Amino acid sequence: MFSWLSREGPGKHEVYENVTEGLKNIYKSKLLPLEQYYHFHEFHSPQLEDPDFDAKPMILLVGQYSTGKTTFIKYLLERDFPGIRIGPEPTTDRFIAVMYDEKEGVIPGNALIVDPQKQFKPLTKFGNAFLNRFQCSTLKSEVLKGISIIDTPGILSGEKQRVDRGYDFTGVLEWFAERVDRIILLFDAHKLDISDEFRRSIEALRGHDDKIRIVLNKADMVDHQQLMRVYGALMWSLGKVLQTPEVARVYIGSFWDQPLRFDGNRRLFEDEEQDLFRDMRSLPRNAALRKLNDLIKRARLAKVHAHIISALRKDMPTMFGKDSRKKELIKNLGQIYDQIQREQQISPGDFPDLKKMQENLAHHDFMKFNQIRPKLLEVVDKMLSEDISKLMNMIPHEDMTTTSEPLIKGGAFEGVEDQESPFGYKKGEGIDAGSNEPEWIVMKLKHKYDTLFESLGPSDGKITGAAAKTEMIKSKLPNTILGKIWKLADVDRDGFLDSDEFALAMHLIKVKTDGYELPTELPSHLVPPSKRDI
Ligand code: MG
Ligand code: CA
Repeated sequence: MFSWLSREGPGKHEVYENVTEGLKNIYKSKLLPLEQYYHFHEFHSPQLEDPDFDAKPMILLVGQYSTGKTTFIKYLLERDFPGIRIGPEPTTDRFIAVMYDEKEGVIPGNALIVDPQKQFKPLTKFGNAFLNRFQCSTLKSEVLKGISIIDTPGILSGEKQRVDRGYDFTGVLEWFAERVDRIILLFDAHKLDISDEFRRSIEALRGHDDKIRIVLNKADMVDHQQLMRVYGALMWSLGKVLQTPEVARVYIGSFWDQPLRFDGNRRLFEDEEQDLFRDMRSLPRNAALRKLNDLIKRARLAKVHAHIISALRKDMPTMFGKDSRKKELIKNLGQIYDQIQREQQISPGDFPDLKKMQENLAHHDFMKFNQIRPKLLEVVDKMLSEDISKLMNMIPHEDMTTTSEPLIKGGAFEGVEDQESPFGYKKGEGIDAGSNEPEWIVMKLKHKYDTLFESLGPSDGKITGAAAKTEMIKSKLPNTILGKIWKLADVDRDGFLDSDEFALAMHLIKVKTDGYELPTELPSHLVPPSKRDI
C-alpha cells in the first residue's frame, strides 16, 4: 500500500510492524553473517529467530485466587476469551497466554512449544506436568493487536496450597517475569491476606521491580475508611516482600463491569484507571525501544567477539605445538583483551566475562576459527550508525503517543478514550462543563458576576487589571494560578476585562477551587459569545 496516498499516513500498528520488520532485516542481512563467521552462538547467545522480534509486549498477571485476574482480562477485552473460567473457587488452574489471532481457539501447551511462530519453546524444560497446565487462547480482539496477556493460576492460602502442583510453579513465574514487559500484581481490597506461597511468588519476581505495577482490586467492596486501612496494610506487607516497595505504583480500582458497591470513590477509581491504561499504552513503544537497544548491545558484543576470535586464530602456529599454544593463549586472554581495547578503542565494559570466555574457549578448536574479515565488521558498523538510527526515528515520540492515535485500541481502551458520550473521563465536569450545551455556561451566574463587576467601577465597560486583582485574590488562589486565569479570561488581549471576560475569570476561579485542572488554552465553549467572531 502507498501510505502517502492515505491522508492519515500509516497507523501506529503499522509503524511498529515496520520497525520489527526492519530489525529482522538488518539482523539477518548485516549482523547474523558476522555472528556465524565467528561462532558467536556457541559462546554468547543462540541465533535470533523471528518470534524473538515479533513478540508483542506481554503483561503477566499474578495474584492469589479470586483477586480478579481473569476478570481483569475480560474487562480489558470487553469479552470472554476461549477457555475462560471465572468463579469464587480457584478456577484458573493453568497458565493461559491470551493472544491475537484471526482464528479463535485454544492451543494446548504441548503444541505451543513446537509452534515456530511463538516464543514458548524454552518452556519445554518445565516438563509435561506443566505443559498440561499451559495453553494459549487466541481471539480476534483489537486490544491483543497491541499486547499479549498471561493469566496465571490463582495462588492459594493455607492448607490447600501444599497440594503439589507437580511442576516448578515459581520457576515458571520467573521464566515469564524475565520475558514480559509488565507484571501486574492483583490484590483483593475486600480480602487482603497474603499467603506464604504468594509471598514466595512475589519473591520470584525480584530483580524485575521496575516492571511491577500493583492493582488493589475490588476497592468498591469496602467503604472509604476501610479502603484507607487496607491500603496501609498492603503497603506495609509489600514493604516486607518487595525490595523497593516505594517505586511500585499501586492503582486502586474495581476492574470489572458491575455496579460499584460503594461509589464514594468513583472519581478516584476513574483517575487510577486512566493512569493504569496510560501505563499499558506505553508498552508497545517501550518494547520497540528495548528491542532496538538489545540489538545494539548484541552487535557491540559480536564485534568484540570477532576481534577476540580472529586475534586467537592469528596467533596460532601453522605447524607444530598447537595444543600448548592454545593453552597459552587462553591463559593470556586478559592481555589479548587489553590489546584489542587499545587498538580498537573499545571500552572494557563491552568485553565478555574473562573467566567464562576462558572456560568456553577450552572446548573449541582454534584452527577452525576465522581470521579477521574487515568487510563483515564494516557492515555492522554501518548498521549501527545508519540503519539503527533510521529505525529509531520511526518510533513515534513519547508526546505523540498521547495526542495521536493510541497504540492499544479496542475493548476497555475505547471506553477510557471516550470523547463522545457524557460518560467519558471528566466529561461535563470542571473545564468541560457546558461543552455540549447551547448556552454559554458562564451565563448561569452572570447576573451575580455582573453585580460584582459594577462594584469594581468599570469605565467604558471595562475594568483594569488592578481592579480585577482586588476581587480575584479573594479566592486565595496563588498568584501563578490567578495569572493564568487572567490570561485565559482576557480573550481579546487588550489588557482589560469587560463584563463577559470578568464573568469568565470568575467561572475559571470556581472551576479551579472546585478541584479541577485549568487548560493551557481556553476551550471554544467557554469563549464568550460576544468574542466568538474575533
Ligand atoms: Mg482466574
Ligand atoms: Ca479584554
